[in-house]
Amino acid sequence: MRLNRWPAALAALVLLAGCSAPPPEQETQFLALGTLVDVSLYGVPPQQARKLNAGLHRRLDAFTDRWRASGNGALGQINAALDRGERPHVAAGMLPAMRRAQALSKASGGRFQPALGRLIRLWGFDREERPPGPPPAPAAIARLVDSHPDIADLDFTHDEIRGAGPAVQLDFGAFAKGLAVDRAIAWLRSQGVTNAIVNAGGDLRAIGRHGERAWRIGIRHPRQSGYLASLEVEGDESVFTSGDYERYFDYRGRRYHHILDPATGYPSRGFTSVTVIADSGARGDAAATALMVAGPAHWRDVARTMQVDAVMAVDSAGKIHETEAMAKRIHFETDSPPVIAERIP
Ligand code: AMP
Ligand code: MG
Repeated sequence: MRLNRWPAALAALVLLAGCSAPPPEQETQFLALGTLVDVSLYGVPPQQARKLNAGLHRRLDAFTDRWRASGNGALGQINAALDRGERPHVAAGMLPAMRRAQALSKASGGRFQPALGRLIRLWGFDREERPPGPPPAPAAIARLVDSHPDIADLDFTHDEIRGAGPAVQLDFGAFAKGLAVDRAIAWLRSQGVTNAIVNAGGDLRAIGRHGERAWRIGIRHPRQSGYLASLEVEGDESVFTSGDYERYFDYRGRRYHHILDPATGYPSRGFTSVTVIADSGARGDAAATALMVAGPAHWRDVARTMQVDAVMAVDSAGKIHETEAMAKRIHFETDSPPVIAERIP
């Protein structure tokens, strides 16, 4: 009799556990897009969340293969054809994204410059791990800068790329993550999801809310571990950061990072990181990169022409340059608040 009561009690416990509501937020991480992707879904049952995450993972892997600048993927083959002086055929699914990148590049005054593939390769920033060694020879850099590769010169109105000279190799490294989170959110929406964040290594698009409150996210400090600031996002917003700390090499006491100024051929100067809030991942990604290149002298103009009103940049002295729209949104997370160099309407 006594022995028999245990299974019954256990069964009751299991039943209870089964009936209790699952936690409303499902968070998963996986490696994709060359970074750690963190997906949070709110109000989605765990079993459906698992299916959605697996679907997302598959889609993002296929996306990465497609948009890699070299190798056998679609863009790699386009670049190989450009190298041979041919007019490469472009899959219909890639053309709108290329036109979008072209428009954003024009709006940035060519600072976001996806035709810069040769220069990026010369610096070795196309590789996951750049082998140690000196920066490229100044003459080699000057030659590529003087050849003025510009995506504005290309014609994307057919199913092939026309107008590309020998200077052009396409690299969407500054844009693809934005495109990817846009596609990820669009797919989640098509599956009925209304509250989600897709966060690719700190660059993200969020829709809806975290239940009763907005989504809360952190912005990495460019020079310390941990967060510089935090902010709340809701509705449909993308937050993108570009920084000199993400990829770089040191040579003879100098640091060379991966965001190149098309005008000089050298790493951009003046800002260590730039964060924007934008209406899409594509715009946010392109703008964060362009604003790094624009630097303290030109960032206000470029923010306006690229239509991002919430911008925060950290300059080489650690001071903050920001718009009022951003100042209203962020809370600094550092022990003492940083110095504000400028705040513009
Ligand atoms: P992001 O982290 O979005 O700023 O992108 C940086 C990556 O974009 C680099 O690793 C390069 O592959 C590429 N890139 C570097 N400089 C530029 C530039 N001025 N315009 C467009 N892409 C660039
Ligand atoms: Mg970018």
